Amino acid sequence: MAGIRVEIRGTVQGVGFRPWVARLARGLGVTGSVRNDARGVIVEAFATEKDLQLFLQQLRVDAPPAARIVSLRSTALEPETRTEFVIELSEKRGPKALSIPPDLATCEQCEAEVLDPANRRYGYAFTNCTSCGPRFTIATGIPYDRAQTTMASFEMCRACESEYTNVEDRRFHAQPNACPECGPSLAFAMLGEGVALSSNPLGATAELLKAGGVAGIKGLGGFHLACDASDPVAVELLRERKRRDQKPFAVMVRDLGAARELAKLSEEEEALLLSPERPIVLVERRKGTSIAPEVSPDTPLIGLFLPYTPLHRLLLEAVGRPLVMTSANVSDEPICKDEEEARRRLEGIADALLLHDRDIAMRCDDSVVRVIAGAPTVMRRSRGFVPRPFMLRSPVARPVLACGAHLKNTFCIAVGDSAYFGPHIGDLETVAALEFFEEAVARMETILSVQPEVIAHDLHPGYLSTRYALARSGAELVGVQHHHAHVVSAMAERGIVGPVLGLAFDGTGAGIDGTSWGGEFLLCFHDRFERLGTFRPIRLAGGNVAMREVWRIAYALLHDAFDGEPPLEDLPLFKKVPLDALRLVNQMLERDLNAPRAHGVGRYFDAFGALGLERPVSSYEGQIAVSWDFAADSETLDSYPFEIDGAATPAQIDLRPSVRALVNDIVEGTPPGAISARFHRTVARASAGLAETLLQEIGPVPVALTGGVFQNARLCSDIELQLSSKYEVLRHREVPPGDGGIAIGQALIADAFLGDKG
Ligand code: ZN
Ligand code: ZN
Ligand code: FE
Repeated sequence: MAGIRVEIRGTVQGVGFRPWVARLARGLGVTGSVRNDARGVIVEAFATEKDLQLFLQQLRVDAPPAARIVSLRSTALEPETRTEFVIELSEKRGPKALSIPPDLATCEQCEAEVLDPANRRYGYAFTNCTSCGPRFTIATGIPYDRAQTTMASFEMCRACESEYTNVEDRRFHAQPNACPECGPSLAFAMLGEGVALSSNPLGATAELLKAGGVAGIKGLGGFHLACDASDPVAVELLRERKRRDQKPFAVMVRDLGAARELAKLSEEEEALLLSPERPIVLVERRKGTSIAPEVSPDTPLIGLFLPYTPLHRLLLEAVGRPLVMTSANVSDEPICKDEEEARRRLEGIADALLLHDRDIAMRCDDSVVRVIAGAPTVMRRSRGFVPRPFMLRSPVARPVLACGAHLKNTFCIAVGDSAYFGPHIGDLETVAALEFFEEAVARMETILSVQPEVIAHDLHPGYLSTRYALARSGAELVGVQHHHAHVVSAMAERGIVGPVLGLAFDGTGAGIDGTSWGGEFLLCFHDRFERLGTFRPIRLAGGNVAMREVWRIAYALLHDAFDGEPPLEDLPLFKKVPLDALRLVNQMLERDLNAPRAHGVGRYFDAFGALGLERPVSSYEGQIAVSWDFAADSETLDSYPFEIDGAATPAQIDLRPSVRALVNDIVEGTPPGAISARFHRTVARASAGLAETLLQEIGPVPVALTGGVFQNARLCSDIELQLSSKYEVLRHREVPPGDGGIAIGQALIADAFLGDKG
């Protein structure tokens, strides 16, 4: 006989882990116990040496689908004689730390039950079990227990109760366990009239959608707006009502087979679609499918996802076609979560609402993932991921709240050796968004039982996240440079403390010299950085207006490259720009008035893209860049000339020669596909070239590719290819490369900075 004690850490609570361990142990004749503790699960096991080895091996490989084992440590125990293997209830053992898992997509068994006419949960939209169902979005406090969820008001019927209390049942301790007898129910209401009308809410919603209407659907982390994705009129109607110019809509399909019809999927993409997080997966859509082009105009990408609650699954079954499912909000305000709020805010947008009576405690938008150059990369980390922590290589000295950036805001709380991202907040531009931010921070502090002693924020004084930090008392404040935070967020994923040469490429971010940065080569440690290189700045005539009117950026670039004499008559783009606007912009540049300098690589994409595609205006952040990426042909392999000024401090990449070559190409009628390919190649060669020069001086440290620009697969893989034979290249996986990921970097920087001082 032998004994072992196994400590398992990661997402192992609320996912059916203990019953699974018990079944495994009993199957192998192992005795002992399993229980939750503050950091995961503790197993004590007794059996023969051989059986214990087998047990350990299966613990490592066979965990339930929603569990994520971060570490598993076993130590020897004095053998004891026990008669059985038991699950010890953690309630007996003092308070727990964070025990709330992320929301989990419906498991196969529950889905089968919902679709089985003989099952007592046939057609029941709120079916769940220990391995699936709502978690974070229904939690109102800790520990995670039915009484501390929005299921508290529903009393379990006898059948549900017996599932809940039976260790052998797959609903043992499934906190949101419910059935049609005792659980939440659906309702259908036409907007404006206010009465729940139908006896068959799902059917009524399906009829409305099939007839080309728009429905607001209360789901897991908030409301969606839905319409028939194959009906161009319906999609256009939704677009108009939602005031969402051209931003792509996500599309939900009933299963993997339906997804395959709409897009060519790689193995990684299929795995992501089916993962328990069920994110929206950005994939390249097939041509000539049933999906209306209006769903994602002017990009070949489409965001697909599969149903993650029985409600969604049943709705898709009833409608029988793919549905646009987009967060219910106007422009970039937070997603709606309550019925009253939905009635008010969706008036005039949705024709009717599909409602239910289980409250959403915490808003949580859908997550977005994309396979970038072979690597699954989380672009928006929210539902399904939150609040699963990142394990830090070394613990933070004091709890830190990092407030994130401005656009695509996500905050992060680091405590001990864990870092917890909050849900996706969105663009912090409105009062509603700021309120959501404050509400979400407060709730995360509650469920983590933590009072931040350090607050990290961006250096930009205008960001609402910065103002929030400055207004909060009782904590030490640390301002963190935006691109330093980007690089450290990439390092955090791999537990690297530096030095690392970070290529932080994005659209904008406050530098420490008063200009806007975004084409940065930073030598980074957690507590400091050195700016070794950058791109030659472009002037933004009119400031922020230029982000939308990208022709202004193109004009400034030409003005710079042609010494104040841009060859406008050769360039079709400027035929689309009013003459007086051109004159005004020219004046701003000549007099250097309201034309701030910006180093962002994103601005080069805007400028070259505008010229090559003859597109004067970008209707949303990144629109031109994505079109420009996909415009590139794969035959063209050469690049434009560029210069690197190595004597400057920081060294500077100068693309003026490329601008002149581009004008030549346009004059000669070169197709945009070749121009785009050359441009991408140029940026990649210049960047890898400067990186290599710098690395020869500083030594072979790892290189991190970070910032929103690295969502561009072409650029990302090209730079990686050029550097990876000699250097370790760090890319984002679980932490978003864009501004949604910087909060973890901010937290680590603030901690290291104060640690040094102390
Ligand atoms: Zn289930
Ligand atoms: Zn029941
Ligand atoms: Fe950024």
